[in-house]
Amino acid sequence: MASYYAGFSSYEEPHFLESCSLCRKHLPRNSDIFMYRGDKAFCSNECREEQIESDEAKEKSWKLSSRSLRKKSSEASKDCKTVRTGTLVVA
Ligand SMILES: [Zn+2]
Repeated sequence: MASYYAGFSSYEEPHFLESCSLCRKHLPRNSDIFMYRGDKAFCSNECREEQIESDEAKEKSWKLSSRSLRKKSSEASKDCKTVRTGTLVVA
């Protein structure tokens, strides 16, 4: 136990920096490491971008229903404007 704590210092690189979070490629210590959200490391900008995109897609998915509803209503009001006899009331 004592030896474990002796070897554990804030200067030591955390375990997660040893490999890419996306493709699991080993990250050489003297190579560029692309960080994301402070807790994920990637071997390349491409890998990081992919992770960001998938994370954003996950975050947006729950908002998607309200978003598509809003889009639908604006498209519907556009259609209303083309109808000359129609009365368009915008609340
Ligand atoms: Zn990678």
